Amino acid sequence: MKSERILIIGSNGQIGSVLSRYLRGIYGDDRVIACDIKQPVVQDPYFEILDATNGKRLSEMLRKHKVTQVYHLAAILSAKGEQDPLRTWDINMQTYFNVLEASRENGVRKIFYPSSIAVFGAHANGIAEQYSFLDPSTVYGISKAAGENWSNYYFKRYGLDIRSLRYPGIISHQSLPGGGTTDYAVDIFHKAVKGEHFECFLSAGTTLPMIYMSDAMDATVRLMEASKDKVCVRTSYNLSGLSFSPKQLASSIRKFIPDFAISYKPDFRQQIADSWPQHIDDTFARKDWGWRPAYTLDKMTEEMIVALRKQYDLIHI
Ligand code: NAD
Repeated sequence: MKSERILIIGSNGQIGSVLSRYLRGIYGDDRVIACDIKQPVVQDPYFEILDATNGKRLSEMLRKHKVTQVYHLAAILSAKGEQDPLRTWDINMQTYFNVLEASRENGVRKIFYPSSIAVFGAHANGIAEQYSFLDPSTVYGISKAAGENWSNYYFKRYGLDIRSLRYPGIISHQSLPGGGTTDYAVDIFHKAVKGEHFECFLSAGTTLPMIYMSDAMDATVRLMEASKDKVCVRTSYNLSGLSFSPKQLASSIRKFIPDFAISYKPDFRQQIADSWPQHIDDTFARKDWGWRPAYTLDKMTEEMIVALRKQYDLIHI
């Protein structure tokens, strides 16, 4: 494990900014190189600018740092992606093809590819099973479904050890989300701790699969460290944390902030949410590499509120 040299592409985002700290805690600071198309907010000696649409530059970085593992997080997400579908397809696919080819050519041993519940559509019918039919409704979902199949192809054809999770909406206090349909579930906490009213862009009863960041980190490293023979799904593993609606989340928040107020004004994201399953069956992840989420809704809510109060310096109010 100590000999790994890791490159995180898209390290400034909601997941990357937390994952880089998490992996550095395991492998050591100098063994985890962070890169993104833009500079990070906090200066990082192990950060380099990289536009992953530039395959030549990516190859140079893999060689320069003798990279053994790549976490490819760069992508345009579901809601933002709908504003410019063809550009979203280009960026999501071009960056991934560059990762696949540059990794193959430069001896990278393992790749992490984050997929999404957005690969599912109307035919997943409420509960998405591992092999439910994939009929994604967004360009983002289409690109993730294609990426999953390319992962499987590169594994079978070239033996590239690619591991992937279909993340549900991720809830974090450390970082802000970057334009997904589940972003409300982070924004709501910021409003709640500041004592502000929250207007939700999804309807009260829209149940979606979500996961707390700390569970997402655990699942990611657990999968990446599993022995190769345990990783039987080479497209992408279903992953489930918890499922809830805005109304249920608001009720959970009121257990800690009783006067929290919410109203509902669904926008274009409602249609995307309606095309996604409400629940995810992650039996394969549980069976193959021992996945178990640790967080319930109230446990997550309490931790989010305590952490955000500290961030906003409201702890003594
Ligand atoms: P994000 O939008 O917060 O971060 C993506 C990062 O990629 C940004 O910092 C951006 O600057 C960077 N980036 C964009 N184009 C780039 C390029 N050409 N070269 C280098 N960097 C580039 O996204 P996130 O929420 O951190 O998600 C990370 C990955 O996880 C994505 O692939 C996303 O599809 C997947 N995912 C996220 C969620 C979620 O809820 N956050 C759920 C499912 C899947």
